Amino acid sequence: MTPLERLHADIDARVAAIRSERPDWLCRQGCQGCCHRLADIPRLSLAEWRLLDEGLTLLPSQILRAVAEDVAALAEQSVRPIVCPLLDRASGSCRVYPQRPIACRTYGFYLQRDKGLYCKDIEAQVGNGVLNDVVWGNHDAVDRRLQALGETRALTEWFAQREAVG
Ligand code: SF4
Repeated sequence: MTPLERLHADIDARVAAIRSERPDWLCRQGCQGCCHRLADIPRLSLAEWRLLDEGLTLLPSQILRAVAEDVAALAEQSVRPIVCPLLDRASGSCRVYPQRPIACRTYGFYLQRDKGLYCKDIEAQVGNGVLNDVVWGNHDAVDRRLQALGETRALTEWFAQREAVG
């Protein structure tokens, strides 16, 4: 198992444990709220980008072209939050779900010191006291493991490099 695969497995285990305790968890297929409200352009480690790139190569060429155009437009856009360019807005699903970055896997299940849970809908439930017994994942620990997965760049930069190589 690679370090990224081990990290995926650990995150999957924590997410599954939370879901098994809370079958009615807000974060589920069809929500896509986080994909519509990214605070900034996602940053990916080299290992995450390589995996994501595998997913991109599986996309039909016209879809990949449209995604690349959306990513290039993002590089010029200063308005925040942003809609993830990898989201299929028609179906509401991620075009590269099996290869999605770590941040997408932990969102809503992991807590980060100084940054909270990220998902405002889940934070509202925390505020109501209905999630008091949840054992959250530790995103600071995830970030330490991500640092070992190669240099980190914005999605727009990885795409620009991809386009340059052809
Ligand atoms: S990569 Fe996929 S899961 Fe992550 S924000 Fe984009 S559309 Fe959503």
